[in-house]
Amino acid sequence: MAHTVTLIPGDGIGPDLTDSVKRVIGALDVDIEWEIAEAGETVMEKEGTPLPESVLESIRKNKVAIKGPLTTPVGTGFRSVNVALRKELDLYANVRPSLSLPGIETPYKNIDIVLYRENTEDLYAGVEHTVGKHAAESIKIITREGTERICRMAFEQSKAEGRKHITVVHKANIMKYTDGLFRDVFYEVAKDYENDFEEIDDRIVDNMAMQLVMKPNLYDVLVCPNLYGDILSDLLAGLTGGLGVAPGANIGDGLALFEPVHGSAPKYAGQNRANPLATLLSAKNMIDYLGYSDEAERMQRGIEAALSKPETRTKDLGGSAGTKEFTEAIVSNL
Ligand code: NAD
Repeated sequence: MAHTVTLIPGDGIGPDLTDSVKRVIGALDVDIEWEIAEAGETVMEKEGTPLPESVLESIRKNKVAIKGPLTTPVGTGFRSVNVALRKELDLYANVRPSLSLPGIETPYKNIDIVLYRENTEDLYAGVEHTVGKHAAESIKIITREGTERICRMAFEQSKAEGRKHITVVHKANIMKYTDGLFRDVFYEVAKDYENDFEEIDDRIVDNMAMQLVMKPNLYDVLVCPNLYGDILSDLLAGLTGGLGVAPGANIGDGLALFEPVHGSAPKYAGQNRANPLATLLSAKNMIDYLGYSDEAERMQRGIEAALSKPETRTKDLGGSAGTKEFTEAIVSNL
């Protein structure tokens, strides 16, 4: 079945990255058509908003989208388009896989962990105020409904991927009500998946941070409330090469937006210098999500082959290739 996917090129190096995606996906045996939707700085100049309604309509219609990074100018008043997209489309799960890759030197080997971060609640709900002149408060919000949907997604997707160990991360020893609710709801949802996993357990967040540094290979899937998920997902990216190589996805009910974790690196825009790896890995996860698992596997192998030689790796990874040469090396290795 043909799929139409919304493609947001984005700002800065965004178009270099999405050109690479179009080239690699175009060389695979997948039936995908792109619907280009412009958002970000350039659109702001033309249309007076960085996120035209037509972009949201395109994603709602096509259900699946991929985007390059979008610049959030400092001090101009327009809010982050990335945050607006997540809010408008209720993309309540931030999914961050972390996988060791050849050619990327880190002290860690064979990392393969997926983190599901709740994207809408917790201290990030933005309920904050000052109390008199010398104090401020922020309210931590955790709801049964919000927790249940992220937990169910994590169990469902992990089951489909054949993963066997799932861990909820919390600080319920101190925040007995909020994090206690998150942990309790996780275990309630877990009852429906007892036969699908070998281990279903929980860790306190500070201990989890230490364990991920000392023995990350013990972990498989992590489910986190917003704040801990934000921090631990960057820690996980650090285990496999940093934010520059980390793919991501924001997922809601029936809607998915795939994107690299890094920003728009404006100084490299249009110079054949940007590393498209994180965007390509996001695109690989996207075709997997669309049901092309064999082609996703083929794409992964092509990427790994190109990464394994310095002459076909990009400069930020110690290689000598530009965006286009790396892209062509992947295509020739498919
Ligand atoms: P950045 O990720 O753009 O850059 C950090 C450093 O990494 C820079 O030195 C940059 O040149 C380098 N870098 C990043 N991606 C690279 C790539 N693919 N290839 C080679 N080098 C790369 O972070 P920043 O400078 O803090 O942010 C720039 C802009 O991006 C800001 O406006 C910020 O708001 C935005 N941003 C957007 C997203 C998103 O769209 N999801 C995420 C983060 C930042």
